[in-house]
Amino acid sequence: MSVRVRIAPSPTGNLHIGTARTALFNWLFARAQKGQFIIRIEDTDQERSKPEFTTNILEGLKWLGLDWDEGPFYQSQRIELYQQAIQTLLDRGLAYRAYDTPQELEARRAEQQAKKQAPRYDNRHRHLTPEQIAAFEAEGRPAVVRFKIDDGRTISWNDMVRGNVAWQGSDLGGDMVIARASGQGKIGQPLYNLAVVVDDLDMAITHVIRGEDHIANTAKQILLYEALGNTIPTFAHTPLILNQSGQKLSKRDGVTSISEFQAMGFTAPGLANYMALLGWTPADGEELFSLDEAAQKFSFDRVSKAGSKFDWDKLDWINSQYLHAMAVEELLPRVVPYWREADYAFDLEGDRDWLETLVALIGPSLTRLPDAIDQGRFFFTKTVDYSDDAKAHLQQAGVTEAIAAIATALEAGANLETNDDVQSLIKQVVKDQGVKKGLVMKSLRAALMGDLQGPDLSTSWLILHQRGFDQPRLQAALALT
Ligand code: GLU
Repeated sequence: MSVRVRIAPSPTGNLHIGTARTALFNWLFARAQKGQFIIRIEDTDQERSKPEFTTNILEGLKWLGLDWDEGPFYQSQRIELYQQAIQTLLDRGLAYRAYDTPQELEARRAEQQAKKQAPRYDNRHRHLTPEQIAAFEAEGRPAVVRFKIDDGRTISWNDMVRGNVAWQGSDLGGDMVIARASGQGKIGQPLYNLAVVVDDLDMAITHVIRGEDHIANTAKQILLYEALGNTIPTFAHTPLILNQSGQKLSKRDGVTSISEFQAMGFTAPGLANYMALLGWTPADGEELFSLDEAAQKFSFDRVSKAGSKFDWDKLDWINSQYLHAMAVEELLPRVVPYWREADYAFDLEGDRDWLETLVALIGPSLTRLPDAIDQGRFFFTKTVDYSDDAKAHLQQAGVTEAIAAIATALEAGANLETNDDVQSLIKQVVKDQGVKKGLVMKSLRAALMGDLQGPDLSTSWLILHQRGFDQPRLQAALALT
C-alpha cells in the first residue's frame, strides 16, 4: 500500500514553526517512502479562520520547499460529507442528540471542580425516552450530537515515535460532541475530531504524523475510525518544540512564524535543515543536508520522544553555512532587497560585476541576510568615518608618506584591476619609501576602511577603486595625519 500522509493546518494564524516542522516530517516520510504528501486546510472554525492565514501557510510551505502532491483541500467545502457521517452514526445508534444547555453543563462542571474531579460529561442524555426528546424539541432546545465513548474500553496503538500508547475510555471526558448545537433536528457545525476522521478515511491517509499535543485526540479518533471505516492509520506523534525554559514554544516567545524567520534573513534551505534537526538525528550524525538528502535518510526510529529546545545559535550557525556556501549569483538577489531598504545607491544591471565582487567578499561573513547591510555600508559611500584606533594609527611616523605615495601613484593612473596589481603597487611603495610592508598595509587599511579591522584589504580596495572611492578616502586620511 502506498504511503499517503497529510498536513492539516488550521488557518487561525500564520504558519507556526511547530506546524512547519510537522509538515517537514510528513514530507520527509512521504519522500522517503515514495508516497504522497497532501495538504488539507482545516478551516471549519469560521470565526477564527482567515484567508490571509491560508495564504501565509501555503506560501510558507512552498518557500521551505515542501511541495505537495494533492490539495489544498478545504474542510469548509466538505461540510456535507461530515454531516452525512454524523447522520450515519445517529442512524446506527452510535451517536445521539444531547439537549443539555450550556448553563446546565457549566453548573455540572463547577460541581465537579469543587469535588476536585476531572471535568466530564456524565452521558445523561444517552438514553432519553422518545417522550423526553419530544419535550425538549417542543421547548425548542438546540441539541449537540454526541458520539458514545465506552468508558471500559482501553484504546491502544503502536506509535511510530512513542511505541505502545494506551488510553482509558474513561479518561476521554465522556461522550464527545461531534457537532455543535442546532435546533429543529438539524445537524450543527461538525467538529474537529469528526471532520479529521472523515477526511483521513476519504483521502485514504495511511499515516497520521502530528504533534504530541494531539495524543488524546488520537484516542478519540480511533473510536471514530472504527465506527466509520474500520481502517485505522498508523500514528506518529512528534515531540514539541520547546523554549529555553522547557515550555512549548509559543507566540509569547517572540518569533514563531515562518514568515518572521524569512523576514529575519534566514534562508529556506538553512531553516528547513535546522527544523529537521528539531527532533530527528540522521544515523550518520550529519548536521548539514538538503531536504532531498534528508529524505533519503529519514525514518521515525530516529525521531526522539523528548521535546527539542529551540536553539538560536545552532540555527544561526546552520544558516551561516548556507550563506557561506551560496554561489554569488544566488546570494546577490537575496542581499539586494536589504541594500535597497538601506537606501544604498547602485544600479543592479549596470553595476552587476561590481556587486558580485562585493557579495563574494562579504558572503563568507554573513550569518543572516540583513548582516549584509552593515557589511556592505562601507562600500556604498565615498567617505568613511574613522575609528579612534584608525585615527591613532594615522598619527604614526611614516604613515603620511606611505599614503601620499599611494595617492600619487593612483593620480598617475596606476593600473589596479587585480589582487596582483594591488600587491605590486604596495611593493613599489615599500621599496620607494623604505618602510615596512606591515606599516603600508595598516595605513592603507586605516585610510580606506576607517578602521584597523575588516574584510580582505586587497579585494576591498579593488571594490572601492572601481567606484572611485579610494582616492577621496586617501585624501581624507591624509588630512588626519
Ligand atoms: N488542524 C489540526 C492542527 O492544526 C490538525 C491536527 C491533525 O493533524 O490532525 O493542529
